[in-house]
Amino acid sequence: MFAAVIVGVNSKNVNRLFDYKIPERLTDVIKVGHRVFVPFGPRHVQAYVMSIHDESDVPAGKVKEIVKVMDVEPVLTDELVELSKKLAAYYIEPYISVIETILPVALKTKSKKVLLLDDAASGEAKFTYDSYAVNGELETKSLHTRELAELVPYIETGEIYEDILIKQHTRKKVQKGVRSLYLNKAPLERAPKQFEALQVIENYNEPVLLTELKAQGYSEAIVRELEKKGYVEKLDMIVERDPYESTVFEADYEKELTTEQADAFNSINAALNDKKDETFLLHGITGSGKTEVYLQLIQTALNNNRDAIMLVPEIALTPQMVNRFKARFGDDVAVLHSALSHGEKYDEWRKIQSGRARVSVGARSSIFAPFKNIGIIIIDEEHETTYKQSERPMYHAAEVAKLRAEYHQCPVVLGSATPSLESYARSSKDVYKRFELTHRPGMQPMPEADIVDMSDEHKDGNSGILSRKLEAAIRDRINKGEQTVLLLNRRGFANFQICQNCGHVPNCPNCDISLTYHKNNNSLLCHYCSYEEQVTRKCADCGSNDVTFRGTGTQKVEEILRDVFNVDIIRMDVDTTQRKGAHEQLLSRFENDNVPILLGTQMIAKGLDYPNVTLVGVLNADTMLNLPDFRANERTFQLLTQVAGRAGRHELPGEVIFQTYNPEHYAITLAMKNNYTEFYEKEMQFRKFARYSPYYFHILFTVSAERIQDCLEATTDIHKTLVDNVSESCIIIGPSPSPIERIKNKNRFQILLKYKREPELKNVLDALDEKYTQIYKKTGLSLKIDVDPQYI
Ligand code: ADP
Repeated sequence: MFAAVIVGVNSKNVNRLFDYKIPERLTDVIKVGHRVFVPFGPRHVQAYVMSIHDESDVPAGKVKEIVKVMDVEPVLTDELVELSKKLAAYYIEPYISVIETILPVALKTKSKKVLLLDDAASGEAKFTYDSYAVNGELETKSLHTRELAELVPYIETGEIYEDILIKQHTRKKVQKGVRSLYLNKAPLERAPKQFEALQVIENYNEPVLLTELKAQGYSEAIVRELEKKGYVEKLDMIVERDPYESTVFEADYEKELTTEQADAFNSINAALNDKKDETFLLHGITGSGKTEVYLQLIQTALNNNRDAIMLVPEIALTPQMVNRFKARFGDDVAVLHSALSHGEKYDEWRKIQSGRARVSVGARSSIFAPFKNIGIIIIDEEHETTYKQSERPMYHAAEVAKLRAEYHQCPVVLGSATPSLESYARSSKDVYKRFELTHRPGMQPMPEADIVDMSDEHKDGNSGILSRKLEAAIRDRINKGEQTVLLLNRRGFANFQICQNCGHVPNCPNCDISLTYHKNNNSLLCHYCSYEEQVTRKCADCGSNDVTFRGTGTQKVEEILRDVFNVDIIRMDVDTTQRKGAHEQLLSRFENDNVPILLGTQMIAKGLDYPNVTLVGVLNADTMLNLPDFRANERTFQLLTQVAGRAGRHELPGEVIFQTYNPEHYAITLAMKNNYTEFYEKEMQFRKFARYSPYYFHILFTVSAERIQDCLEATTDIHKTLVDNVSESCIIIGPSPSPIERIKNKNRFQILLKYKREPELKNVLDALDEKYTQIYKKTGLSLKIDVDPQYI
């Protein structure tokens, strides 16, 4: 028997299957999807079994043997193996990079090296591991480092030695437990406390944690006595990491659906029950009860004994969502998001893989949750750009969802108040089935919205960042004890430093972008590469001392608001939310302490649902309009609609104020009127005229290299290849410098290809990729091919 494997070496040269012989002793063990260890060149490397067959083309003398198998159960299901092949082809990626995107980091080849040799020497840290017991059953054990060190020379998290999978290396997560040996208790009757404790331990019918006994009043001393007398034995128990361990979830109950909700629910539910892989678009205004529909659909999936995947754009930003899912489905829910440690992610992944969790709630990568019987996949806020990975492999979660749905024969639901133009266009052509939710249940009206023209304010002598209208509205809320949410899409204190004498603006030395002033540490920071320098009040160019700061970031606005209103303010931006759990803490303070103002960047636009928020203000609605991106209007409309939806979601009516210098712009006026359809129609005209998505598909080629000349040569070559090989209906734009011409000291040039139908394109892309992989190895010049890019 032979296994065709993909080796865990991320190089294009080895981006193909290699045959290995399956040794006799492992023929019944190794399955497709297993991780194995194979000799590869001078080393042994991790590899993934993609198929198993009786014959091999490799001459008998040449074929090597698999050294060992690393998992009890394959880590990839047959479906995920097939999926990885499709994605590798579509996104022009090496298989290994896709496979290792599908799996949690802890299982990757050479996962982040946590070399614990020091710890190992001291023998202090403790490991838990799964291993084969004699009868082939999986057994979980724990060992001291020094014991483990006798088995393996180096210890790395997530690495596997022989048949041992090291799950974690934390001390506190292995806790002491005790179990009864079920002896006759009678002789203990004269030690009533011990007798009672033993009774309690026996009642558990399984090992119990000492801490749990302690909580019930049975000290360690009592247990020690029992152990000494031979009634019980102590053992190590593994306590699985549960990031939500200490969270109490508010109760949430199933609501009776409104007619609109019920229409959507019934249709999607029918697809679920009939096992149809249809895609639905649930277009519902903010607060219209989309989530309620999702919850009830997931309940049906569970009732049918099937699993559910729920994607949200960024889970840390939506603690309320997690609460609702945990409240409805309890321990059936696995939560996957970027703030979890590798170990925590692995635990959640295991819960899914072993069937202990039936629902996953998570950000983009949780689309790969290893469920075996998916009943429904839901993508909330489907228009969000976070669903497309910006690094390789640059997959889009919705595309993956459709592939998985095809395999599992289940519906996909895309939900949004502001669907992407692509999705809405598909629904208009009945490729997706669309349902509209136009009301808020409970009949809260959509908030009143208004636009303030900031040029008028300036003309009238108000040069501040707050219009008089917004200032008065905030003051009114403060007086009434109600809350305001303010959006400013720009972090930092001032945007940039400028010399009033010569106009010099300090730029990042590595990137082609100005540095942002951060007041708290008096520094200038690059938001692209994190380069930081201390502020000097002297112009680096002309030496003048006439240096000042322009533009206004969240830090600065916070200061202004404090001056004007003299109230407590919560600021939420990348700077205040870096610590794990910071989002939740800030939001719960906002809610529980009824803090008058929440000021933040776009991270406050999503998901918040607080009854006392009655005013939403957008300080500068134009920030996104000016981005050099054909989706700038769409993103502006989406952001404004989203943030407006935070006001007046409950009994109290809401009000929304957009401050802008473009009061006539349709992205702003239509967001004010909450008129998606009209926006869609207008924007589609623009896209048609300018020949952009959804009328065309796009591929973005970005070349980066140290020398501009090299970028130019490469992009010229790519341009020629495209011209020679694609049809005349294609549009090729460029070569041109990328919007940010230099990042991290590399110059960047790009070409945009727009096409409608190009069956041969895949071959052209593969050839280009192949060619530039070789060039990269020799010169370091890299080509990134982004299929269906989010930003252009
Ligand atoms: P969305 O996901 O569209 O923003 P939600 O599902 O969060 O909307 O619903 C908004 C609010 O309305 C929530 O507080 C929710 O509990 C409530 N809600 C949703 N559907 C119903 C219903 N059918 N009856 C009563 N309340 C509902």
